Amino acid sequence: MPEKIHLKIKRQDGPDKPGYWEEFVIPYRPRLNVIACLMDIQKNPVNAAGKKTTPVVWECNCLEEVCGACTMVINGKARQACTALIDKLEQPIILEPLSKFPVIRDLMVDRKAMFEHLKRVRAWIDIDGTYNIGPGPRISEKVREWAYELSRCMTCGCCMEACPQVNPRSGFIGPTAIAQVRRFNAHPTGAGEREARLEALMGPGGIAECGNAQNCEKACPKGLPLIKSLAELHQETTLHGVFGWLKR
Ligand code: SF4
Repeated sequence: MPEKIHLKIKRQDGPDKPGYWEEFVIPYRPRLNVIACLMDIQKNPVNAAGKKTTPVVWECNCLEEVCGACTMVINGKARQACTALIDKLEQPIILEPLSKFPVIRDLMVDRKAMFEHLKRVRAWIDIDGTYNIGPGPRISEKVREWAYELSRCMTCGCCMEACPQVNPRSGFIGPTAIAQVRRFNAHPTGAGEREARLEALMGPGGIAECGNAQNCEKACPKGLPLIKSLAELHQETTLHGVFGWLKR
């Protein structure tokens, strides 16, 4: 059993500041997660050289792998800090911010781009009134099963981190938003916006920029069926591009 926990953290004092590494050693306690270690450092911000430093900045919220806010790169893999247990990690534990989003400070990044992509593809169901209109249309059990899987997306960004097409040169919207098009188009009310969603995927940075690397599904902590969603939407957008004008 180790007596200490050794962390090596990639830090950055602000969006336009240079990155640097700082190491911390804290007392071992069993069953800690990465968030608990960061909280220990926050309470006593002294680095491994014994020098007083600034507390490390990170983001977290639910602490049960539902919100995605604490996503960071831990020992080279993008994952949630809340479910990263120290007893299962090799030391030194290396913490870095996600590389596909702008750093705000230290381990905290700005994931706004993903939410903008969800807006672009209209990843919601329009309501047709604020009054009680009774139960909505029924969904078959078969569709509900896979649509539920897609609804578990927490917009964490692990799939974006793993995707080589998501980079500063491409503008590719990535698997997160594309998978949500499949989910909302399958909903009986959401299907009213099906064509608008497909067209949003057909523009610059859309599905045509997917390189079929297939890293995304392996990286997704919720096991979303991303590869199948991408394949189906490749087909649907192609058919919509060829025959969509007939409906107008
Ligand atoms: Fe995270 Fe998976 Fe959603 Fe990508 S699809 S944002 S990896 S939960």
